[in-house]
Amino acid sequence: MIDVPSPLRLRLSSDALVANWRWLAAQGGAAACGAALKADGYGLGARDVMRQLVGAGCRDFFVATWGEAAALMPLPAGVSLSVLHGVGEGDMVAARLLPARPVLNSVEQVRRWRAAGEGRPCDVMVDTGMNRLGLRIDEATGGALDGLAIETLLSHLVSADEDSDQNARQLAAFRTLRDQIPARRYSLANSAGICLGADYGFDLTRPGLALYGGTPRAEAAGHIRQVVFPEARVLQVRTVPAGETVGYGATWTAPRDSRIAVVNMGYADGYLRCHAGNGGATWQGQALPLVGRVSMDLTAFDASEARGLNEGHWLTIDYDLAAIAARSGLSQYELLTGLRMRFERGWS
Ligand SMILES: *Cc1c(COP(=O)(O)O)cnc(C)c1O
Repeated sequence: MIDVPSPLRLRLSSDALVANWRWLAAQGGAAACGAALKADGYGLGARDVMRQLVGAGCRDFFVATWGEAAALMPLPAGVSLSVLHGVGEGDMVAARLLPARPVLNSVEQVRRWRAAGEGRPCDVMVDTGMNRLGLRIDEATGGALDGLAIETLLSHLVSADEDSDQNARQLAAFRTLRDQIPARRYSLANSAGICLGADYGFDLTRPGLALYGGTPRAEAAGHIRQVVFPEARVLQVRTVPAGETVGYGATWTAPRDSRIAVVNMGYADGYLRCHAGNGGATWQGQALPLVGRVSMDLTAFDASEARGLNEGHWLTIDYDLAAIAARSGLSQYELLTGLRMRFERGWS
């Protein structure tokens, strides 16, 4: 096969990933700090994320589906992997064969797991307010779990990223569950939950977003480092005379004679049209504002101040998740997981 170099890449920072995990681990008090790897490690590459976090001391990982679990095999020694969506009928073969635990989410799933006669430990999700996945509290405490070998009992916070009374209510409900349902470990907090304080840590935390550079709450600002740096190669630099426009819809008019750098990246790559009007890039410390609309695979930047920039040079695209989320209305999760496969992933 011909090795074709990609014109766009995600530079991923190992140091930042590991530093974020360490910071989150420190906030969780005595709790072990795990990592959510679903959606291919929020788009960064689940295998690479796992390998680096295992190197830092992380032992507990979470994916959504059995397909995601299978893609992580073989697991490094001593690693625990949980499958958040539990076991449907069609998952039982994978659940039997793979060294991963289902997070059982319903009475039906508990029955299915028991019927398989595994006897191996499982995890269980109890719903304390999300009404998404998990047994209801009355189901969980009403005998459905009796005799089950539960490794980790989980619940998930609804509004941890907000100052909502519901956080304290879910904390209290989860403490009550801990006293009623025997399990080896208890786990409640995602990234935002970790920022609510060590009370929320219990035995194990499950950050995702903040590992990858998202800021889940103000407490994390200044501590969480950017991990994902999109970069795009300049396809062409052109001179646009004052008064001419750039791109579809002629939404940007050159206020003076301008040098415009066109890069090989657009909304088909997950670099969405919401960046028009306020997106930007840098080259050798020089800021290049985005001009005009974002096209399917092309975006233009004003390189008038970037002297020496030319075809083949690489721009680093501004990708401050919290800032872009605040002005675009998209969530930091969407901004991370939306970056598509034409970006070549590379760790440094
Ligand atoms: C995705 C997920 C997490 C991680 O959440 P973040 O907000 O990304 O930290 C933790 N627990 C469960 C059950 C999840 O689905």
